[in-house]
Amino acid sequence: MYNGVVRWYRHGVRDDRLPVARGKVFMKRYDYLIVGAGLFGAVCARELADAGKRCLVVEKRRHIGGNVYTENVGGIQVHVYGGHVFHTDAQPVWQYVNRFAAFNHYINMPLANYRGELYNLPFNMNTFYRMWGVRTPAEAKARIAEQVAEAGVTEPRNLEEQAIGMVGREIYGKLIKGYTEKQWGRTCKELPPFIIKRLPVRFRYDNNYFDDRWQGVPTDGYTAMIERMLDGVDVRTETDYFERRAELDALAEGLVFTGPIDRYYDYRYGELEWRSLRFETEELEIEDYQGVAAVNYTDAETPFTRIFEHKHFAFGTQPNTVITREYPQSWHRGREAYYPINDEKNQARYEKYAELAAREANAVFGGRQGHYRYYDMDKAVSAALETVARMKQK
Ligand code: FAD
Ligand code: UDP
Repeated sequence: MYNGVVRWYRHGVRDDRLPVARGKVFMKRYDYLIVGAGLFGAVCARELADAGKRCLVVEKRRHIGGNVYTENVGGIQVHVYGGHVFHTDAQPVWQYVNRFAAFNHYINMPLANYRGELYNLPFNMNTFYRMWGVRTPAEAKARIAEQVAEAGVTEPRNLEEQAIGMVGREIYGKLIKGYTEKQWGRTCKELPPFIIKRLPVRFRYDNNYFDDRWQGVPTDGYTAMIERMLDGVDVRTETDYFERRAELDALAEGLVFTGPIDRYYDYRYGELEWRSLRFETEELEIEDYQGVAAVNYTDAETPFTRIFEHKHFAFGTQPNTVITREYPQSWHRGREAYYPINDEKNQARYEKYAELAAREANAVFGGRQGHYRYYDMDKAVSAALETVARMKQK
């Protein structure tokens, strides 16, 4: 019998051959089929396995971890799908992830590069001082209030108005407009305000990108963390649910689906829109490329949005370095769906899919793609824990 033993070759990539379901002997071998070995799927698998459920996780990529996947390159943990910093205000979530990884004390302090000028992020007194020479919170507030009044923004209806309302027209023009429009592929007037509300605006000298109480990066990488979550669970990588749907459905009583919900329902209400990304990673024979983990290129002309230098997420002292340029790109079927476009049109479409999902007796949906939500990692973890808690009540 297939016992879920997996073999490993390089960089945490599972080399598990697919056991073929042959005849009735394999029917309903599992209580749950979990589609997607990302954070949401891994937490569900852990919780269900701990509740005595037999789970099979299938993952279309060649590795576990979804977008938090990291690969060890000469001692540097490379965040293959862009830099990931775990941050949360929820103590239970922090305690939960610490069961599976030791976190370092990294604090995210990215820089913005606007046509060669460097600014601190998020928007704080260091940014305002560099932008305007203002030294006190009162001076900065007055400068922003002046610009907000000139722009006539009262009730922000879109990202542009929200951003100007938060930091004034000048910072919007240099640090937000170009970045946001290339990141999302549409104008700031077409985007919902909540996207920019993610960023703190502070009238203190404080470059910590997040307001959350807990923050860090797993010392041995996210892949090892996910691997521990999946300990003892059967996992098959390079297995696309849609290519073997009937066969996989036949293996389990219930389904946890963390892929795109519109695809699950054959796009019957139309496609949900996404933004995709392309990553270009380079190993350099120098010690330090940019002196910080992330630099955002906030002008409209530079084709990438940011450069990550991975060693700085872990205070690395290696003689070489690895950098990744993140290029936003349009999404179409067949490309990876990274960011949901949660505007009104797409949100309304998603609600229709969510209604179908709510009527399912044996299937639940979750994660960034299953919930069509701009989840950070901590929110993906808490949503997974809530999902399993609801499943247990049924
Ligand atoms: P995913 O990681 O997308 O996992 C879903 C999995 O399902 C994927 O592995 C996919 O291959 C698989 N799948 C889909 N369809 C199928 C199918 N048909 N068959 C089999 N498998 C399938 N969050 C933070 O908290 N801090 C950060 O600094 C941060 N940085 C980020 C940077 C970038 C560039 C991006 C894109 C995201 C970032 N996030 C960050 C968010 C974080 O990546 C998500 O919260 C997290 O990955 C969500 O996990 P998930 O399981 O929902 O989704
Ligand atoms: N943003 C910006 N300039 C920056 C960084 C962020 O305008 O230098 C805006 C942009 O619209 C982005 C949003 O703020 O989509 C949220 O930024 P965050 O860093 O949280 O994005 P993520 O890491 O999720 O891509």
